[in-house]
Amino acid sequence: MRAKQYDAVVIGAGFSGLYMLHKLRERGLSVRVIEAADGVGGVWYWSRYPGAKCDSDSIFYNFTFSEELYKKWRWKDRYASQPEILEYLNFVADELELRSDIQFKTRVTEASFQEEEKTWKITTDTNEIIEAKYLISGMGCLSTTNIPPFEGVSLFQGEQYHTGRWPHEQVDFTGKRVVVIGNGSSGVQAMPEIAKEAKELTLLMRTPHYVGEARNHLLSKEQQDEAIANYKEIRDAFFTTPGGIRMFTTGKSATEFSAEQQKETLDYVWKTGALALGSAFPDIGVNKETNNVVAQYVRDKIDEIVEQPETAEQLHPDYYITTKRLIIGTNFYEMFNEDHVHIVSLKDNPIERIVENGVKLRNETIECDVIVYATGYEAMTGSLLKINLQGRNGQTIQEKWEKGRNVSTYLGLTMENFPNFFMITGPQSPSVLTNMPSAIEQHVDWIDQCIGYVESNGLQTIEAQQNAEIAWGKQCDDLANSTLFPQTNSWYTGANIDGTQRGFVIYVGGLDSYRKICDQVAERQYEGFTFEKAFQGIVKSSMQ
Ligand code: NAP
Repeated sequence: MRAKQYDAVVIGAGFSGLYMLHKLRERGLSVRVIEAADGVGGVWYWSRYPGAKCDSDSIFYNFTFSEELYKKWRWKDRYASQPEILEYLNFVADELELRSDIQFKTRVTEASFQEEEKTWKITTDTNEIIEAKYLISGMGCLSTTNIPPFEGVSLFQGEQYHTGRWPHEQVDFTGKRVVVIGNGSSGVQAMPEIAKEAKELTLLMRTPHYVGEARNHLLSKEQQDEAIANYKEIRDAFFTTPGGIRMFTTGKSATEFSAEQQKETLDYVWKTGALALGSAFPDIGVNKETNNVVAQYVRDKIDEIVEQPETAEQLHPDYYITTKRLIIGTNFYEMFNEDHVHIVSLKDNPIERIVENGVKLRNETIECDVIVYATGYEAMTGSLLKINLQGRNGQTIQEKWEKGRNVSTYLGLTMENFPNFFMITGPQSPSVLTNMPSAIEQHVDWIDQCIGYVESNGLQTIEAQQNAEIAWGKQCDDLANSTLFPQTNSWYTGANIDGTQRGFVIYVGGLDSYRKICDQVAERQYEGFTFEKAFQGIVKSSMQ
C-alpha cells in the first residue's frame, strides 16, 4: 500500500489539535489531524455526563491567539457546560475552516521513526499508512479512561456508564437505584444532577475530597460585553500568571493574617466561588500551616452544611488540600441531606467485585440498576502509552518510560530518541495545574516556532539531548519535592492506576516561569537539542 505523505501528523482534534493544525497550516505545511471520534472536541466530545462543566471561568477557557476569533464568541455561563464547550470548538473548526484536514473515526495505533528517511511512519486502525516528518500528540493528559479492573463487570444486568465515555443519548435515571463509584471532579459534578431523577443514589467513596463552591450563573449581556472588552487582560493572564488565569489572591501567607481575617477571606472565596480556595493564600502548596487553615475551613463548612454528623465526618478529607486536584461543585454537600442519597465509605469495606444485581463490597452488596464509574483517567501518560510509539532503534515509549514508572522528557515537549516528535501538554509540563487553553496555546506556539526553525535552517531532525532530559527531570523533581504535592497519592502521581506509581510528573513552577524557560531555550538556538542536517551529519546545540 502506498503511504500518504504529509509534513505533519497531529493526533487528536481537541483544543490542542485544532490550534496546532491552524498554526502549521499558516506556516504552509501540509497537515493531517487524526481523530478517533466522529467530531472535534477531544475530551469534551466524550465527557457528556450530566452536569459536565469546565471549572475555569469560561471567559478564560478559550483561545486568545486571535482577537477577532475571541471577540466573535460569547459564553452563556460563568462555567461553560460540556455542550457549550463542544459548540465553541465546532465554531473554532468552522471559523478557521479546519475540518478538511481532519480525518475522523480513525485511531493511530502505531508510529515508528524511520531512520533512513527521517520520517515517522504512522499506522491507523483503518489500515492506512501515513508518512510525516513531524508527529505531534494533541491527545491531552486526561483522555484515556480508567475503569478499575473490577471482577464481574460483564455480569452486571443493569446499565453501566463511565463519565469520560458517556453516551450521546440522554440517560434517564428516573426511578432507578444508581451507584456512583468515585467523587473526583466528574463524580462531584454528576451526582447532584443524577440525584434529581434517581430513586436512590449511593456514592461509593474511597477518599473524601475537598469540594469548594462553584457558584455558577448565567453571564449577563454586560458581563459578556466586559469579557470581550477585556480581551487584552484575558490574554495577558495567559502569559503572566502561574495558572494562565486570573484568580483571587491575597498575595500573602495565611500565617500573616489573624484567625478572623483568615475566615473573612475564605468566607469571601466560598461566597464568590471558583478554585480560589487554592489561590487565596499562595503558599498553600508549600506551607503546612496555611494548608491546614484552608483544609480546616472546608471541613467546618461540611459540618455546617451536612445535617447528619456521621455523614459529615465521613466526608472529611484529611490530605493536604490542593495536593489532589481541587474540586468545585454545586449542591454537592447539600445533596447528602436528602433521604435518597447515601454514602458508603470504601475505607474498611472495599469493592470486591461487580455482581449481577449490583456491587459486592467486603461487608455488603449494594443492589442497583445503574453503575456510574466516575473513576477518572490514566492521567498524564495513558494515551501515549496506548500507542505503539517507536523512536530510534525501535525503542518504544513503553520501554523508555518503563511503562509509565519512569517518565523522562525535555521540557515536557520532546524526548531523546524520538526526533521530530512533540507532545502538547505532555508530562513534566505545567499542563493540568493550569487553565488548559493557556498551556495549550503556549505549547503550540513553541512547537510551531521550533518547526519553523528546523525548516528555515534546512534541518532534517530535532531531538532532545539526554543530558538536557536528565536535567529537566531533576528540575521538575526538585521543584515538586519542595512542595506538599508528592506527599499525597493521587492521579498526579499515577497512584490511581495499579502499578503505575511514579514520581510527580508535572512542572510545578507555574506557566509564566515555564514559558520563560521555553523561550530562553529557543532564543539560545534550541539549547539542549541535537539536529541532523542532510549530508552534513549531526549538529549539537550546547547546554550551558
Ligand atoms: P479523578 O479525579 O481521578 O477521580 C476518580 C475518582 O474515582 C476518585 O474519587 C477515586 O478515588 C475513585 N476511584 C478510582 N479508582 C477507584 C477504585 N478502584 N475504587 C474506588 N474508587 C476509585 O477523576 P475525574 O473526576 O474524572 O477527574 C479527573 C480530572 O479531570 C479532574 O481532576 C480534572 O482535572 C478533570 N476534569 C475537569 C473537569 C472540569 O471541571 N473542567 C470536570 C471533570 C474532570 P481516590 O481519590 O481514592 O483515588
